[in-house]
Amino acid sequence: MMRVKVISMRGASLAGLIVATALVGQEIARFTRTLAAQEAVFKLPPNQWNRPEPIRVTVSTFPREEGPRSAPSDAIVLFNGRDLSDWQSVSGGPARWKVGDGYFQVVPGTGNIETKQTFKDFQLHVEWTTPYPPSGEAMDRGNSGVFLQGLYEVQIFDSYDTKIYPDGVAGAMYGQYPPLVNACRPPGAWQSFDIIFHAPQFMPNGSLLHPARVTVFENGVLVQDNVPLTGPTRHLKRPPYEPGVDRGPIMLQEHGSPVRFRNLWIRKLKFGTD
Ligand code: MG
Repeated sequence: MMRVKVISMRGASLAGLIVATALVGQEIARFTRTLAAQEAVFKLPPNQWNRPEPIRVTVSTFPREEGPRSAPSDAIVLFNGRDLSDWQSVSGGPARWKVGDGYFQVVPGTGNIETKQTFKDFQLHVEWTTPYPPSGEAMDRGNSGVFLQGLYEVQIFDSYDTKIYPDGVAGAMYGQYPPLVNACRPPGAWQSFDIIFHAPQFMPNGSLLHPARVTVFENGVLVQDNVPLTGPTRHLKRPPYEPGVDRGPIMLQEHGSPVRFRNLWIRKLKFGTD
């Protein structure tokens, strides 16, 4: 009996060693893929026109055209349909955008707005529509954006028939990753983003351990597949991560175009301490 037990324990520890080695190997492979994805982005300057253009896919009319869907019961509703009491101006004071019947709208010249609450890892739902008829210069056509943690922009743009550099198309992680496809609906139609965001992780000294990762569905179509961000998104720049910053508000961009929003809600994803 004793002999059998020793052999089985040895077998167990050997199996454990094999599993541990496999897990370490997987982690190294994952890390290598992350580095390769970021390296590929770093090789391409931001906001260049010579990247491959995302192909267009046609998405059906918004299936909930009759109205926005309800938030799940465990979601934090970010817009109550009546006022912007959950938001504030990034430059200080109350949010000065216009509130309509169940939506709110960018007021040009009033600046970006952000949620009063901050978030770490989350699932975010946003509905938006660009103006119809379209107006303004090409780069301003329905330009807005959803900034995750106030730093990482998922681009809003009237990409239905207005051209822009590929990493500025609607659904792009601005200046880093063009959307996998162009799933934009026509101007004036309501559109949706469903976003999964994993915050960057930092060492105690503030240096980066894991980059932020983002998955985005635009109108139900996958446009960003768990991409590792190189840092905050900026026009013509690729700044590094802000050391130790792993939470922040949801910020919406005022880019001079009266883009509308409705039905915004967020679910915190709980990992460890958040
Ligand atoms: Mg924008």
